[in-house]
Order: sequence, then structure tokens, then C-alpha cells
Amino acid sequence: MSHPANTPNKPVASAVAADVVKPSNFLRQIIESDLANGTYASRCWGGSPGDAAHHAAGQPDPAKIRTRFPPEPNGYLHVGHAKSICLNFGLARDYGGVCHLRFDDTNPEKEDTEYVNSIIDSVKWLGFDWNGAPNAAPYQASDYFDFMYRAAEYLIEAGHAYVDEQTAEQMRVNRGDFGKPGIDSPFRSRTPADNLARFRQMRDGLYEDGAMVLRAKIDMASPNINMRDPAIYRIRRATHHNTGDKWCIYPMYTYAHPIEDALEQITHSICTLEFEDQRPFYDWLMTRLIEGGLLASPPPKQYEFARLNLTYVITSKRKLAQLVYDHKVSGWDDPRMPTIVGLRRRGYTPAALQLFAERIGVTKSDSWIDYSTLEGCLREDLELKAHRGMAVLNPVKLVLTNWDEVMGAGHLEPCSQPALPHPPEGTEPPPARHFTIGKEVWIDREDFEEVPPKGYKRLFPGNKVRLKGGYVIECTGCTKDANGVITEVHATVVPDTKSGTPGSETVKVKAAITWVGVADGVNAEVRLYDRLFSDAQPDAGGKDFLESLNPNSLKVVSAIVEPSLANALPGQNFQFERHGYFVADRIDHVQGAKPVFNLAVGLRDGWGK
Ligand code: ATP
Ligand code: MG
Repeated sequence: MSHPANTPNKPVASAVAADVVKPSNFLRQIIESDLANGTYASRCWGGSPGDAAHHAAGQPDPAKIRTRFPPEPNGYLHVGHAKSICLNFGLARDYGGVCHLRFDDTNPEKEDTEYVNSIIDSVKWLGFDWNGAPNAAPYQASDYFDFMYRAAEYLIEAGHAYVDEQTAEQMRVNRGDFGKPGIDSPFRSRTPADNLARFRQMRDGLYEDGAMVLRAKIDMASPNINMRDPAIYRIRRATHHNTGDKWCIYPMYTYAHPIEDALEQITHSICTLEFEDQRPFYDWLMTRLIEGGLLASPPPKQYEFARLNLTYVITSKRKLAQLVYDHKVSGWDDPRMPTIVGLRRRGYTPAALQLFAERIGVTKSDSWIDYSTLEGCLREDLELKAHRGMAVLNPVKLVLTNWDEVMGAGHLEPCSQPALPHPPEGTEPPPARHFTIGKEVWIDREDFEEVPPKGYKRLFPGNKVRLKGGYVIECTGCTKDANGVITEVHATVVPDTKSGTPGSETVKVKAAITWVGVADGVNAEVRLYDRLFSDAQPDAGGKDFLESLNPNSLKVVSAIVEPSLANALPGQNFQFERHGYFVADRIDHVQGAKPVFNLAVGLRDGWGK
């Protein structure tokens, strides 16, 4: 009996079922070739992340591949992250693998449990489980600090790392640039024993923050600047949310990330294109630590794809934070925000976002996706699922002047309409909607014209239309106030034309309009959202995105909705007939109180037309 859209937009089974044939892409080709060649067939899994010995003592890995989604818990996830989540979890699902949720929390300063919890909720809501079991704890990169430290000591002992006491400025100058090789640090040729002693003193807190760093010893003349002895550890006195004050040295991201992947036995480490230049260091580090017997072989490999750029949307956490802190929006979950919590509140479904990720695919070159693609995916998901309802967004009263005479004074005629005109095959249709028609109904102002423009088919004096699900009526005129504003529209009801009764179709009309009975209509707040920016690329080329904020991105109207909509569950999606898709607000809509609906998306793409 239960219908998918009849529950709030909570987790649903994947929109894109695993057995549907997906368009191939370069990542699928790589994985398929790795599986065919048995590249990772010999791997073992120790049951949890760990070093070479830990995994060697485990079972052959039951996961054919391992991918990961590694957010830094320093903000809310956005639609770009949704692409990465659907990609990584989707590949694992489709190829018999496991996807890890890992908090990349190696930077002690920026993390917050508010973000951690919201990230967990968002990934779950999108429909995914991580780490191979429902409700598994996410992994945390900070749990690997001990190993990272041990690996750093190994690199020093093997002559692959040294403590550099140059100032940050000297280091910058001596790194050279694109056309100029770097210059070796005067500290580069210290002995391993000397470096080890100093590194331990760094760890023990003998030096000030920034006094020295540990650097990998690779090649100061490398054409890739990332290979010119990158820093791998720095001194930073900061309390970490997981490890407290245990450490005053922290690993750099470029060093930490490959190790996190390797400890977790990740096979395909998928990241965005800006990390392409880091790949040689990733591979270098893997090779060194496998040589030293610290990490299991074969190592993970990094692959890069183009990040999502969506028109009219910004996807930088820092800039989204600015919108929140400057009160340009009501919060991270403002329905205009491209955050996952914002999209959800706007009425987006997990299935629509999964469909979007499938549809845009993955490529190796940057491009812009049109916002209408995202909207189209939501429409496509809701078309067959969202219950119908009638709402009048800009009400004016329509009086059926002959009602008492032909129907009986005060008579209310019961009407009903299906909640879903086309229930998905194999599902039982949901219960019908019930409402009544009487002498007075609400209609939208736009559905009446005293003097009709050419081609206008709705109400104007002398014209007949159908009140959808009710009767055919014939317009007779209107009344106005002293300012000429229409106060009532007048019409007569045509008897024996009630929808669904025999002979009702004998009176032909060119249009049906939506309406709500005055007797049983319910007052509702409806929030009409539009794009947050009026510029298609609000922050491109260093533009100030605050300058293109759309002043009309939110319009609140007092609407009247049919009685079935008053029972909406928070988060439930609807199609308001002829208006678009709406969702009962997850936060402000409280059953039993005045309903609150958000516009999710119009019925068709009206942007730019
Ligand atoms: P921001 O720059 O907004 O802080 P980020 O990339 O630093 O974003 P992370 O938390 O590090 O955010 O990202 C987690 C994962 O999400 C990374 O693997 C990253 O590649 C991916 N990701 C982030 N933004 C996008 C995007 N716009 N399109 C696709 N993937 C993205
Ligand atoms: Mg980041």
C-alpha cells in the first residue's frame, strides 16, 4: 500500500538500479580492465585499516574493489560532493566492492562535529552505506597519525626525508618555478641519524611552530614542482578534536592522503583534476613505503575526474559559508542553497540526485553543466511519484451565481480525483483525494481576463471552462473595488457536467482550470524560490558572487490548498497541478498547523525562455 512519494524524501532504494546498463566511462573501463587482469586479486583484508602485516594476517579481500569518499569535515556537503558520492559509492556497488566514508581530519584547526554529523546524514540520505556494513562507523584519518609518524621515521632512516630549517620564505625562493630548477637546501645532506634526532625533537615539542619541517628528499630539479622535496610534516600546536594534545606535529595533506588510502586497501582513489600534479608524489610515496615493508602491495592508484561546475551555483564551501554567515540565506539548509541539506529541503530526492550524477557522467575535462539538467532529473523522478493536489497561489473568489437555484442552497457536492493519474506499473494506486464544490471557490487571478488577449482560453465573460474534477462553468463577469481591482469573478454552473459522471463530456470546453473550494480550502504559506544568482557563473574569474545575488530568489505567498494537502507529511513531495512540484517544508511544516510548502521545480523548464 505504501507509495514511495507518500513518505518524506528519506532514503529510498537506488533510483538507478545496479542491473541497469550504465553508459561506460574511463573509470569503469579502468576498473573492468583491473578486474579482468586480476590486478587486485591477491589483496588481503585485515578486517580494518592497517599496515602490511595487519592485512597479510587477514582474509583474501571479499571486496573486489575499494573506493572512498574522503570529505574534510569543515563544512556542509554540496551538489559537487553528491557527484563524488554517487560516483564512488556507485562504482563500488556496481563492481562488487566497498566504498569507505573517511573523514579527512588531519588538519587540526578546521573540523567540527556539527559538520561530521551532517556529512553522515547526507551520505545516508543519498542512499548509501559505507565501510561494508550498514551503520558502520566512518573511518577517521586522524586514527592513522601513529602510522604516519612511523612511516616518516622510516623515510628518514632510509634517506628519503630530512628536516629542513630554512624559513618558509627561503624554501619558497629555493623551490624555483616552472622555468627554473630549485636549489638544494643547506640542510638536505644531513645524516639520517641527525634527521631522526631532530624529527623526534620536533615531535617532543622542542621547537616553535614553523621553525622547521620534514621534507621528502626527491628531486629539486624535477619539472614537477610537487616533486621538489615537498614538506610532509609541520609543527603546529593545536588541539585536535580526536587526538587532543597528543601531537604538536601534523602530517601535510599530500603525505597523509596516500597513506590513508593505502591503510584502507583502497584500489581506485578517485579525486578531482587539481590533484593530477600530486599523482607522481602519491606513487613515489607508495613505492617507498612498500619497499620498507610498511604498506601492502599492490598500492592504491589515483585517478582524476573533472569536478562538477553547475550554472547559477557556487560549490566552494568557503563561499557557501559566507552566504550563511552574512545572512544572505537562512542557513546551510536554506532551500536555495546547493548543499545537500538545502536541496533536500527544497524537495530534491535521493533518486533525482543519483539520476543527475548518472546523467552528467564523468570526464577528464572541465565543463559547465546547465542548471536545468538538475531540475530535469527532479521532474523526471517526481512525475510518476508525487501525489497531485490543487493549490491556488494568487486567489480571487469565483461565485457560481446560479448554484443555490440549480444545486440547492448551501449544497456542497463531493468530488474526487486520483492522487496519481498514472501509478507506476505493479503498484497499487494510492487512495483518491476528496474535496467539495459549493457556491464559492477560489481560483488563480491569472485564470480570469475581463478582456481576453488573443488565444486566451480560460475564464472571460461568455466563455466556458471546466473546474478540474468539478463542473463546467460559464463566465458572466466580475465585480471590482473603487481602485478597479477585481474582487469577485462571476459564473454559472452548467448542471450535469460533473467530472466522471455519465454525459459530463457532452459540453465541450477548451480549458480546465484548477481551483479550491471556499468551504474546505486550507490557508497555506507557499515559498516560491528562484535561482539564488542571476549570473550563470557567479564566481568565475574571481567575480564577487555577492554582486549577482538575485533579489527575487524568494517570494512568500498566502495560498489556499485543497484539504488533502493539509495532511502532508514534512518532506513529502507533491505536484500542485498546473503550478509545479512542491514539498512540505521539512522544518516549518508541522502537521495540524498552517501548512508550509516550498516550490521545488516548475512543471517545465521556463528559465531563459
Ligand atoms: P571545497 O573546496 O568546497 O572545500 P573540497 O574539494 O575541499 O571542497 P572535500 O571535503 O575535500 O571538499 O571534498 C571531498 C570530496 O568531494 C573530494 O574527493 C573532492 O574531490 C570531492 N568534491 C568536492 N567538490 C566537488 C565538485 N564540485 N565536483 C565533484 N567532486 C567534488
Ligand atoms: Mg578542501
